[in-house]
Parts: sequence; structure tokens; C-alpha cells
Amino acid sequence: MKRIAIAAALIGLSACSATSPTGRNQLLMFSADEMRQMGDQSFAQIKQKEQLSTNKAINQYVQCVTAALTKPEHLRAVDDSQQEQWDLVVFDSDQVNAFALPGGHIGVYTGLLKAAQTPDQLAAVIGHEIGHVLADHGNEQVSRGQATNLGLQVIEAALGASGSQNQGMIMAGLGLGAQVGILLPFGRQQESESDVIGLELMARAGFDPAASIALWQNMAKASGGNAPMEFMSTHPAHDTRINELSKRQPEAQGLYKQAQQQGYQPQCKVPS
Ligand SMILES: [Zn+2]
Repeated sequence: MKRIAIAAALIGLSACSATSPTGRNQLLMFSADEMRQMGDQSFAQIKQKEQLSTNKAINQYVQCVTAALTKPEHLRAVDDSQQEQWDLVVFDSDQVNAFALPGGHIGVYTGLLKAAQTPDQLAAVIGHEIGHVLADHGNEQVSRGQATNLGLQVIEAALGASGSQNQGMIMAGLGLGAQVGILLPFGRQQESESDVIGLELMARAGFDPAASIALWQNMAKASGGNAPMEFMSTHPAHDTRINELSKRQPEAQGLYKQAQQQGYQPQCKVPS
């Protein structure tokens, strides 16, 4: 009981309300610096744990898509975020998974390429992940605690951020739940918001936004088995997702055409 009171008091003291890139009110408890630190630590931890891909063609391919998406002019167009430096690591793993973390760290698992089959589809996933970071969803997750015991533990862990137990909680809050076995999925609003940001980002970068629909269809197919797929377990799909992406196509296609005219035509070669 006392722990709950302390956590509640701390939330009250340090919470600040902010507005997401799509205009939604957010409760954020942590500074950008604190989030960056959590992102840096989590990324270091994952890199230690997972095997890095040494496949040159795959690395070049994923890097090509990532570099096109993270051009500062595109990031600035979708959000006033200061995050302009991004680094990428490709993990050699059958997991259908990808993530992006505060501090500008992107991880892509080679298994993802089974669901994201073209450069445009891959851009849809990575754009969606970047959307979670630009919209401060990790901050929101560790701040809000989702009204559960688990959430409370996340808050406490984040407040006293040290030790390997706490690290797992923070990582779950940042969307790495599948990696640490603590599921704390993003919420429906966060998923929609990342879809919107990702769609605009990919279109501005010269990737065909129509591919976002095919991508989510592939994801749904890939997760049709018994076990929930890694990506879908922390990024739950909702039945309106494809409808919303369809509704936004005309606007996104306009941005895509404009990007092509401006010379944003990424040539990323799919590894054979
Ligand atoms: Zn997501």
C-alpha cells in the first residue's frame, strides 16, 4: 500500500502533460534525456543477447530503407522531434520482429523479411516503429502504467532505474516485451498514431504508402498460427487498422508523388 502511495505521489509531482504529433494529450513523466538513457541501455542489452547478422546484402538492404526514412527533412516534416541521428542493427533471428527506441536505435530481425517482402513494406514497418519513438510512446508506457500491478512495477523500476530486474521492466515499456518476456503491448491509440506517422514518413521518403496495407495483411497471415508472433504481441493489430490506412491513402499518395518528383526514389535491392 505504501509503495502504491509513493509511486502515485511521484507521478503527481513529476508528470507533465504534452501533446503528441497527432494532437493527442499525453502524460509524460520522463525527460527526453532520461528516455534516451533508457533507450541506450536497452539497445546495448539486446545487442549483447542477440546474434548480429553478418549477411552483407541483408544489412545493406535494411540500411538503405532506414537511411531513406530517417532523412532529417522527412523527420522534421512529421514531428518537431530533435531525434535526427538513428543507428540500425540487423539481428540474425527467425523472429518476425522490429523495434525502434528513444535515442534513435532501430533493430530489425531477419525473420521480419518473411512478412515485409518488399522495400515499401519494410519501410512501412520501420516507419511505424519510428512513429512510436517520435510520438513518445515509450515515455507514455513507462509513465502511465496502464492501471495494473505490472504498470506500477514499471513505474517503480523506471524511477529507480538500475539493476537487471528493473531493466526488463523498462524494456517492456519501450516495446521490447517479446524480447524480455514481459508483455506490455502498445495501446490502440498508440498503434493508430504510429500508423499515421509511419504512413506519412514512408510517403515523404518515396516509398509507396499502399504497401502498408499489404504489410499488415501479411502480418495477420504470419500471426495466424497458434503462438502469437513476436511483433504482434507488442504491437496488437485492431480490425480498423487496414480501414484507416485505406482512408488515408489519397493524401499519402499525394505526398508520395510529390516525393518522387523531388527525387526521393530509394533504390533498395531486396537480397536474393
Ligand atoms: Zn506498433
